[in-house]
Order: sequence, then structure tokens, then C-alpha cells
Amino acid sequence: MQPTFSVEQIQSQGVWIRWESASRCPCSKLNGRHGADADCTACNGTGWIFHTPQDTQALIQSAEFSPKIYNQNMVFEPGALFFSARSEHCPAFMDRITVLEGRMRISMLRSRLAERAVLVTDDALETLPFPIVSKTVVKQSTSGDGRGGIDDYDLDVVYLRSVNAGTNTVGTVLTEGVDFTVDYNSEGLGQLNWAVGDLKNDGHGHSTSITPNVGDTFTITYYTMPIYRVIDFPHSIRNTMDKSKDVGGRNLSMPIQFKGSLISDLRELFEE
Ligand SMILES: [Zn+2]
Repeated sequence: MQPTFSVEQIQSQGVWIRWESASRCPCSKLNGRHGADADCTACNGTGWIFHTPQDTQALIQSAEFSPKIYNQNMVFEPGALFFSARSEHCPAFMDRITVLEGRMRISMLRSRLAERAVLVTDDALETLPFPIVSKTVVKQSTSGDGRGGIDDYDLDVVYLRSVNAGTNTVGTVLTEGVDFTVDYNSEGLGQLNWAVGDLKNDGHGHSTSITPNVGDTFTITYYTMPIYRVIDFPHSIRNTMDKSKDVGGRNLSMPIQFKGSLISDLRELFEE
């Protein structure tokens, strides 16, 4: 068998990924239980713990693209990718693979689940099926000496609009920082926070809020990053004995290949 790519190729052309190992959570068997404990703090009730994150490079070899995130029945149709990583890595079933530089723009209709904020100390965090992840774009600057430098812009939520609270009419577009904010955790994964918009008022005690009520529909378009679930085991056939250049044969450390499927619901990333 001839290698079609090499470790050097992974280094020069591979994308950076974060590989997290998956292990079953012991809560699944506590007290004769069959299935995860919904209140478990170790696994957030999912039955799986993701640990030992490691950043490394992988080649994306081939993809089974699904042209739509949602089919005509609004059911998620995840695509799948084949990754090749260095042979010392051993991704296994259920591991999580995050393509760190990858960004996807998605658009969806949701119903508000987060309780409305009442006090300024309240959060009204809405956990979306995919985390909000900012995308940095560069734009020619018109300021300064006129020759134009480069400005960075971070995009995250690009469109958010709901129905007017308590009515069946479509409301106005919500403005980030005024009607909502995005709360990021230490890994840069964000949740929508309605609090500032829930509490918006005219300064004389009259609400000017245009955020939806709990249960109301809103449309949101935002950036996220693709996170894949490993759905097979590395191809062990790729540990091979090469005789093409050495009559005695030598162990050749071949990259390993594994398949990942885009995860269709990532609320496991946030503690409820
Ligand atoms: Zn658990």
C-alpha cells in the first residue's frame, strides 16, 4: 500500500482541530440507574464526559456534504468528513473534533425558552442548538492617514428579529448591545443573553423592550464553528510495513483516518 499523503503534508496543509476524548459518565450506573442522571454536573446529564482537549492538525480528506442544514421537514441533515491525523493520535467513537478556524453561518427559527430578566442582576441566557462563535473579518480602514489600514471586525449574531411581545405581528430588528448581548465562556463559545433588552426603558420607568416573551418565535442568523462527532474508529490498516525502499521492511507510521459527523445539537457544551 502506498501512502497518498504524509505527516509532513498534515503539518503544512492540515487545519487546526481540537480533539476531545469522550468517556462514559459513571452517573449512568448509579443506584441501579440505566441512563444518565439529568442533574449530573460531570456530564450535564448527557452521560458522556469530554476531556483531555488537545490541539493538533488534521487533513480534511473528503466530505459528504449535505447541501442543507435542514431538509424540507426542518430536520437536521448532518454532513460527514474524513479526517487524517498523525498516527500517535487515536480518536475513538464519540470523541469531539472542533475545526478551530472553521466558521459556519446558520439561520434558524426558535421559540424563546429563557425567562425574562426582571432585575439588573438577572441573566436571560438562551442556549441555541449551536454555540455562537465570533468570526473576525478584516476591512480596509478609511480612517487615519487616508491610505487605509486594516480594521478587524468581529461578527457573531448578524440578524435577530422576533414577534412583538404578546402580539402576532413581526417586530423590528434587534440591535446587539441594546436589545441583547452575547455571553462567551472561556473557550469562546457564546449564548444569547436577552437581559439588557428585557430591561430596556425610557428612563422614566416605561419599558421600551422589543424582546420576545417566553414561548414567542424569533429568527436568528449567526456564526458558529463546525464541531464533529467521531462516528467510527481509526483505520488500523494504516499502520503498515513498507518494503518499497528497504528490503528488510520497516514500520511506517502512517496517518490515521477517521470519520466525523457534524453534531446536530451542541447544548451539551453549556451547563443548564
Ligand atoms: Zn453524569
